[in-house]
Amino acid sequence: MAELVLESVSQAYGAKQIIADLSFTLPEGSIGCLLGPSGCGKTTALRCISGFESIQSGRIRIGGETVSEADWMLPAEKRRVGMVFQDYALFPHLTVGENVGFGLRKASRSVRTTRVDELLELVGLAGHAQHFPHQLSGGQQQRVALARALAPRPRLILMDEPFSNLDVELRERLSLEVRDILKREATTALIVTHDQHEAFALADWVGVMHEGRIQQWATPYDLYHEPANRFVADFVGQGALLTGEVINDHQVEIELGVLNGHIPVECDASGCDECVRNCHVDVLLRPDDIVHDDDSLMLAEVENKAFRGAEFLYTLKLPSGQRALSLVPSHHNHAIGEKIGIKLAVDHVVAFRRT
Ligand code: ADP
Ligand code: MG
Repeated sequence: MAELVLESVSQAYGAKQIIADLSFTLPEGSIGCLLGPSGCGKTTALRCISGFESIQSGRIRIGGETVSEADWMLPAEKRRVGMVFQDYALFPHLTVGENVGFGLRKASRSVRTTRVDELLELVGLAGHAQHFPHQLSGGQQQRVALARALAPRPRLILMDEPFSNLDVELRERLSLEVRDILKREATTALIVTHDQHEAFALADWVGVMHEGRIQQWATPYDLYHEPANRFVADFVGQGALLTGEVINDHQVEIELGVLNGHIPVECDASGCDECVRNCHVDVLLRPDDIVHDDDSLMLAEVENKAFRGAEFLYTLKLPSGQRALSLVPSHHNHAIGEKIGIKLAVDHVVAFRRT
């Protein structure tokens, strides 16, 4: 295990810039996730880190050692990096045990057997050593692939969309299991996904990517509650943007009332020195920022509802016509078209300057 550091890494195919100025630090033993829509450069970033792809500028370091620079790269096989792919890529003609032991061919038989047994136990497949990959389910095959990658004790594990071939329910369970396995091996790991639930279940750190750039590198909690820009706010979690006007540096007024909090994040970054009265912003409201209260005099019309078991996710039409979301305990089963009482439960303001 080792720390992974990317410093302003850029990569292009011909004239096409694929990743630009990519920087982040993944501390030793922690799990990071690159999260972003298809085509944003996630796989390319992993290929640069694994040593399958050179970089145009910047630096990649693993455990303090530089492995890629603009004009030099350490070959992939010398990086001590383990890879897990979307399609498992197991050797079909080798048994599960042989697959897991593949990276230990140079070790003595007893060392290899001990490590293979230990890993099969760790991934919950003890007793499957003699099976062939095709005899296992998709989820089991992916756990074999992970065990195979972990076997030589790499400094870093890289996983590219490891669960996207699996059905939703299994994906969620396996993300938690994989997190547990990686933590027990104390491995540093970077996982690529376009699925935010997976990223949130797995990662200590998430980097949201868009068009080859990291938009924000933060904990899942901070990404959700303090998105750095509109892209992150929109891509991570559900919510609605409501128009607002700044009253002063800690208050914004929206149609539902006055919100207290620190100054809007984007105003801060875009050179607006101080928040002035009447500055126009868009305020992010998450579904838990609006609560239903039958006694409230503030009313909104139920425009749509999605049953979630314990809760309904209501889409509400506010008096001005703006829309907002609200999570409401499901025993409050209101009809579409009905007006229901709401109140604000915002504990901090996230706002973006209106462009
Ligand atoms: P992601 O994994 O996030 O879906 P990729 O890293 O696979 O994204 O791709 C990022 C961009 O790079 C895409 O626009 C893709 O078309 C382009 N790309 C990927 N590989 C190559 C290649 N070998 N040559 C040219 N363009 C490529
Ligand atoms: Mg990809």
